[in-house]
Amino acid sequence: MKIVSVKARVFTWNGETVPPQANFCTNPSMMLFDKSDSMGSFRFHSWLVCEVTTDSGITGIGNCALAPDVAKVVIDNHLSPLVIGENPWDYNYIWERMYRRTMAWGRKGVGMAAISAVDLAIWDILGKAANVPVFQLLGGRTKDAISVYASKLYSQNVKSLADEAQSYLDQGFSMMKMRFGWGPLDGVEGMKRNIELVETVREVVGYDVDLMLECYMGWNLEYSRRMLPKLAKFEPRWIEEPVIPDDLEGYRELKRMGHMPISGGEHEFTLRGFQPFLDQRAVDVIQYDTNRVGGITAARKVNALAEAFGVPVIPHAGQMHNYHLVMSDLNCPIAEYFPVHSVEIGNELFYYLFEGDPSPVDGKLQLDDDLPGLGLRISEKYLDQFEVAE
Ligand code: MG
Repeated sequence: MKIVSVKARVFTWNGETVPPQANFCTNPSMMLFDKSDSMGSFRFHSWLVCEVTTDSGITGIGNCALAPDVAKVVIDNHLSPLVIGENPWDYNYIWERMYRRTMAWGRKGVGMAAISAVDLAIWDILGKAANVPVFQLLGGRTKDAISVYASKLYSQNVKSLADEAQSYLDQGFSMMKMRFGWGPLDGVEGMKRNIELVETVREVVGYDVDLMLECYMGWNLEYSRRMLPKLAKFEPRWIEEPVIPDDLEGYRELKRMGHMPISGGEHEFTLRGFQPFLDQRAVDVIQYDTNRVGGITAARKVNALAEAFGVPVIPHAGQMHNYHLVMSDLNCPIAEYFPVHSVEIGNELFYYLFEGDPSPVDGKLQLDDDLPGLGLRISEKYLDQFEVAE
């Protein structure tokens, strides 16, 4: 079997979107004085789909969502020529080829997101060629079903926040994640508002529900040092990305303080990227996204190293490319799940673009034993609401 074509297309949403609201979610831009559009770097309204076709007529589908317009150029101009003509079963070689040929600029960020999209398409091909779901190629089932946590609860007025938390209880979720709205520039008043959000959700869900707290890189070490002791009484399962991904020392210090488990990694890349976080005991939970970290070929190496350090891997974002890894690895205890809703920040675009993702029932979801590959197709349903760049 040989790869004969690689096609990268960018789908940009043209349909209705929920307008951004002030203090919706902390993010790295909030640290800047100019806060005119601090949510700008936080919205993703386009998605890259990578289709890799073989001479046996199988097409695999991969995807990535970090700067898809740039990722498309990377795939078209740099990766595609390295992949065409290769046997997809030589996936380790193909991965190293893409990685080493783009070493000067491709190691992290959008370069690795593009490599991830191609790698995912290759694994989809392998599953389809072997006529098994990808999780079977990765070692098979380690669990009956995947327990997922509802991941939304953006900062909003406390009444609607309470209603949203209640809706996840009603749907049978026993775990959920919420976001903060204020950061270091918002002073003591912002701290109070942040604490009020957590208090509101805990009052609704009680303490028999796992609650996770998300900072999305919007705090810094000093602010986190002040906030974590105040938040410890709410017993979060973890606090996520309190500092920017490059602040390894910040992660280390917050973990050493011991107020609550620290998670991160959705903006980290490859085995080499995670090695220092594990070596230096800087995180309690690793959260790569397979469509950024380097695809399945890189993700399974991170999984192996994390397991050796006793650190669970709970990938960012759910979605099929992550669910197959979670299903096949005992060290991935649960998965994230973005509830389906109107297009807002862009996480939810996945459901408008693809079909095949399972829906949770009572907080658990199932993968089909009889569906070969990753199990995703491009959906026709909303296609007319996307602009497509070929
Ligand atoms: Mg996150």
